Amino acid sequence: MRAFTCGVCGQLIFFENSACLRCGTKLGVRWSDRELVTKPVEPPCANRDAIGCNGLAAAPGELCFACALTRTRPSDADAHGMKQWAEAERAKRRLVFELGELGLPIPTRLQDPEHGLTFDLLSSATQLVTTGHADGLITLDLAESDDDQREKRRVEMGEPYRTLLGHMRHEIGHFYFPILTRNEEALTAARRLFGDEREDYQEALDRHYADGPPAGWAREHVSAYATMHPSEDWAETFAHVLHLRDTLQTAAAYGVRVDGPAGRPDLHAEPVDAGAGGLRGMLDDWLGLTYALNAVNRSLGFDDLYPFVLSGPVIDKLAFVDGLIARS
Ligand SMILES: [Zn+2]
Ligand SMILES: [Zn+2]
Ligand SMILES: [Zn+2]
Repeated sequence: MRAFTCGVCGQLIFFENSACLRCGTKLGVRWSDRELVTKPVEPPCANRDAIGCNGLAAAPGELCFACALTRTRPSDADAHGMKQWAEAERAKRRLVFELGELGLPIPTRLQDPEHGLTFDLLSSATQLVTTGHADGLITLDLAESDDDQREKRRVEMGEPYRTLLGHMRHEIGHFYFPILTRNEEALTAARRLFGDEREDYQEALDRHYADGPPAGWAREHVSAYATMHPSEDWAETFAHVLHLRDTLQTAAAYGVRVDGPAGRPDLHAEPVDAGAGGLRGMLDDWLGLTYALNAVNRSLGFDDLYPFVLSGPVIDKLAFVDGLIARS
């Protein structure tokens, strides 16, 4: 994420803000160039009052670009659902911002009625909901917006990391697989690294939940879930590239430098540039930054901020996905 400042008083402002916390000036996200604009001339998103969306729309009464991607959401009468939906859209705006920053195309259902991107944000309190992706449609169980529910599932699944934004980044990975592997060469290379995505999914799912991940899974996979099926390995890896790129962009935007511990070489987060250098060149910065952030978290009594270990084969996969994104 970039760092933004109020155009009136110079206060640092966050991407989620709809007004400056110091001087009260109105702010809004202009999706065409992903700027957090001070005193926008564009009208606010039609979801502003309902869920506090700070996006800007093309015309009064219309939704902003990010909100318009949602096809189904809770009804106005469902007070808890509305709160969950607001959280989900907050995470989705960050997702849409980063996709734009990375130069990834975002084909909508208006442009491609069959495979364009769209979201069903559904409450599992009233129906059975399975988070997943199919043909451009991302379905999210809004129970994942509730901290207690998500944490309960995280512990049950034995996962070190589970967030709404993480779900968004994982599911969008499935969405981009056919787009980024459209040419034969990319598809062949993807299958060599991740395995064949045409493998029987139900069989893999049953095996995963019966036996758990294979011993030593971290040697080749970024997460235990990634061992389940080649498609899940791809999506987990894709999500991880988005974690890494966004976090490094944020660190660079705030001028975060990691110079220690003493005796260690300088570790400095460079500005994000998907085109040049590639992911391997950023790994020194990444590892230095995450070591430091983990140490800071531990000082406050929290678990590691970044609970992952990147093995050689995992780095190969990350670099491959990152390269495909850069060339898109
Ligand atoms: Zn201000
Ligand atoms: Zn909106
Ligand atoms: Zn998945």
